[in-house]
Amino acid sequence: MTEIIDGNEVAQGIRDGLVAGIDDLTAAGTTPCLATVLMNNDPASQTYVSMKHKDCEEVGIATRDIELDPEAPAAELFDTVDELNADPEVHGILVQMPLPDHVDEREVLRRIDPAKDVDGFHPENVGRLVAGNARFKPCTPHGVQKLLAAADVETEGADAVVVGRSNIVGKPMANLLIQKADGGNATTTVCHSRTDDLEAKLRAADIVIAAAGVPEMITGDMLSADTVVIDVGINRVETDEGSELVGDVDFESAKPKAKAITPVPGGVGPMTRAMLLWNTVKAASAESGVDVRLP
Ligand code: NDP
Repeated sequence: MTEIIDGNEVAQGIRDGLVAGIDDLTAAGTTPCLATVLMNNDPASQTYVSMKHKDCEEVGIATRDIELDPEAPAAELFDTVDELNADPEVHGILVQMPLPDHVDEREVLRRIDPAKDVDGFHPENVGRLVAGNARFKPCTPHGVQKLLAAADVETEGADAVVVGRSNIVGKPMANLLIQKADGGNATTTVCHSRTDDLEAKLRAADIVIAAAGVPEMITGDMLSADTVVIDVGINRVETDEGSELVGDVDFESAKPKAKAITPVPGGVGPMTRAMLLWNTVKAASAESGVDVRLP
């Protein structure tokens, strides 16, 4: 019987597990606070930001909501980031992507204080992750690790295949899987658009993590029996009724082959949101010196 890994349930467990630590921090005079900066008019980005605020409110994390005119000069965003870096009441800073063309994304990521970089994208934090000394694990791959743990999937010694090599998902995911640590110790293959014979790699895998952004590209016939399938992909596709969200995995054909599988929606997505809260609490704990237990 294939296990459907319920990301909503695991994410709820993470949120519940954070509340005691947030209460302890608040009682000690440090209310964890996440600041978001939005500099685009994209409705999807606006929705993501408002969901992040709602998530924070539900667990007792304070928020700052900064919106900048997409036409404003890059210096305005840099100044905003500098102010948030200097603000002792702000523990996490998230600059919502995408940014307007005239703003250099890498420059923005470098500008955020690494101790407040709850996305984990600052070069210092990327370096620490690669070196096995992560400060903030990027939210999506960290969420995938938590899903695997919740489903009792042993990564040690497993053959893992990550499809996708982006800086926000594929690369950090592969790095976490090869760490000499819990949730790591997997033998990891990273595939991308130039990979020769993807199917052979997928068939040899015990764990497949799909993060390609190609709707339903991985079908059941590409998988061996009893593969654990984690679908990071979120793709909106047109249907006769309008549109719907699908993953990078064709759920219906993959499910019978899989030992465990995540749905889309309701798999990795809620975990990404929960791990942002996790990182914000971690940042507040580190800044305040108040140790809290993280779930
Ligand atoms: P990117 O577009 O940045 O990266 C996609 C990667 O997949 C690239 O490395 C690309 O290869 C590779 N790829 C593309 N097509 C193929 C193919 N046919 N075969 C093998 N590899 C391929 O995407 P992201 O990493 O940002 O996101 C990936 C997916 O995950 C998207 O659907 C996105 O919406 C979703 N996502 C979901 C999140 C969640 O919370 N669930 C969070 C973040 C993203 P190459 O490098 O050669 O171009």
